[in-house]
Amino acid sequence: MNTTTRIGVLGAAGRMGRAVIQAANAAQLAVGAAFERAGVGDVGRDALELAGLDARGVIITTDLAAAADAFDVLVDFTRPEGTIAALDACLALGKAMVIGTTGFTPEQVAHIETAARRIPIVKAGNFSLGVNLCLQLLETAAAALGEAFDVEIVEAHHKHKVDAPSGTALMLGEAVARGAGKVLEQHAIYERYGHTGARPKGSIGFSTIRGGDVVGDHTVMFLGDGERVEITHKASSRLNFANGAVRAAGWLAGRKPGLYSMRDVLKA
Ligand code: NAD
Repeated sequence: MNTTTRIGVLGAAGRMGRAVIQAANAAQLAVGAAFERAGVGDVGRDALELAGLDARGVIITTDLAAAADAFDVLVDFTRPEGTIAALDACLALGKAMVIGTTGFTPEQVAHIETAARRIPIVKAGNFSLGVNLCLQLLETAAAALGEAFDVEIVEAHHKHKVDAPSGTALMLGEAVARGAGKVLEQHAIYERYGHTGARPKGSIGFSTIRGGDVVGDHTVMFLGDGERVEITHKASSRLNFANGAVRAAGWLAGRKPGLYSMRDVLKA
């Protein structure tokens, strides 16, 4: 990791923003700037203090361009509209971005892909080491088990989460589809209600649970006749995502433009 990199944290008052600040502090990566959307009560506060650390004069502001000299890589865990506005600012400023926000529309994803021709971006629906290992296991399992096994993905998250299925569940679905040699969107079933008919062969089903303070649970089931394989990941702390995002930021500084994944970061 390049420890001279200074990160800017967008969404600094949020759950993940605060975890990213803690993770950067533990990894001795400088937090040079912190941002929030206008109107949030924490604008004007010290971002490190808000994250439970000693104050260090990094005041949360709303203007990326005004603080451009203070950071090299922007780490974003906000909402899609916040990401896209920040992306346009980073394009104008020539700054790299780590994107952890989830719930993008296909048009927003296309916008990110186009931007990555000009700036380096790491985008991941999940930054944890364990989930990224699961992606590899799932590709292997889907290729080995084949069409005789039905695939269902169940995820649970806290009651504040606003998108479904989770970005992680979608990544897991894409890994299964890759392993099976197919395209997720042509086989995904996101909703079932009423008289659904029998399960279409080869489909990949998603189920969503929302409630309490669940940080993030995902299980991928391969359901065969007479046996079942399950691959489960349970996150008990946001710090594992934050540590991955900080690692990605350190890896990204100075790279050439491109859209990178956590797999690229982990194999380096
Ligand atoms: P949160 O609601 O606690 O925090 C989001 C923060 O972003 C808030 O402080 C909010 O004020 C700020 N924000 C919202 N709109 C903004 C804008 N337009 N500009 C600037 N800031 C804005 O949410 P959270 O739990 O921290 O999650 C944030 C995002 O990260 C979600 O999309 C979530 O799904 C995703 N997430 C990803 C991973 C991963 O590993 N990729 C892990 C956990 C959460």
